[in-house]
Amino acid sequence: MFSAITVNSDRSLAVLRKSLRSGRVGHAYLFSSDTLGEIEDVSVSFAQALNCTKNLPDTTSESRDEPCGECRSCTTISKHTHVDVHWVRPESRSRVITVDQIRELMGEIFLKPTEGLYKVVVIVSADRLNTEAANAFLKTLEEPPPRSVILLLTTEPARVLETVRSRCLRLTFEGSGEFVGSDLSRACVETFAVMWGRSRTHLLDRYAMLALLLKDLAGCKAEIEAALLAKSPLSYYEDADPRVRSQWEEDRKAAVEAEYRHQRAQLLLAIQWWLRDVWLESLEMGCQRLAFPEQAALTQSLAKRLTPEEALANVGVLEKVQRQLTSNVQELLALEVALLQLHG
Ligand SMILES: [Zn+2]
Repeated sequence: MFSAITVNSDRSLAVLRKSLRSGRVGHAYLFSSDTLGEIEDVSVSFAQALNCTKNLPDTTSESRDEPCGECRSCTTISKHTHVDVHWVRPESRSRVITVDQIRELMGEIFLKPTEGLYKVVVIVSADRLNTEAANAFLKTLEEPPPRSVILLLTTEPARVLETVRSRCLRLTFEGSGEFVGSDLSRACVETFAVMWGRSRTHLLDRYAMLALLLKDLAGCKAEIEAALLAKSPLSYYEDADPRVRSQWEEDRKAAVEAEYRHQRAQLLLAIQWWLRDVWLESLEMGCQRLAFPEQAALTQSLAKRLTPEEALANVGVLEKVQRQLTSNVQELLALEVALLQLHG
């Protein structure tokens, strides 16, 4: 991942802008990047540019590619609640995108846009489409209905089925070298940097840190629960058949779990980026490249106590815990072990 630090995404964005400006929008794109968050953001901007109400067809072509970010269309797209922009993620316990999810999506894409100019479907983790699911939409991928765009996102383009890949325009985003984290992940890094940066940590500090991390994660999960419950049919149809309700409940739980895993990974990735800052500082290469320049003093303070080897090992500890958490290792145990293994 470090090799991607300095490369930027400008060329890929330029291609998208050009296609919007010329009015020749491709019908299926495969976006790949080191982090899903980055290409999810690109997808939001792209869907906004396609549907921004200030970009109506009679608008002069110069501004076609810049969404305003403020109209109803732009704001609902960024909140993932626009009726014409659909997001699909691996949801079931096996963490694959199922044929049922794809069928539902195909049902949507063949309806005319309700509010927007374009229907947009975003398939997050396209490498998680199994063959059956992929086959269910190959034909649509080749010839989607007019005014619809399919965006496939992946961090592992090589694992996307060839039949799917070959039908898409591929754009690679290699990372801008900037960490774009949520407010929560920035706050979490700050707590982490304060506790870890100030002075050598002892066993109790590490458990205090574990407690804080778990508290942040629990808060994050509660928010996801609330947000997804509000969207679930469970909240609207209270007198539905108990069997149907229990299926909805299953779906909701699986969706919460998938979103929680995603956000947990983002949070840990933020800490990993900070430990990468510490490593760069320990090599005296930090200066202009820090992901968290606001923590520079604490970053330097920790870097001074570590050898570059120890600092790099710390980055490895976070990589390892991320890998473990994608399998079904117990969260508490994995995080505890990681915190105890960190140098400093
Ligand atoms: Zn707008």
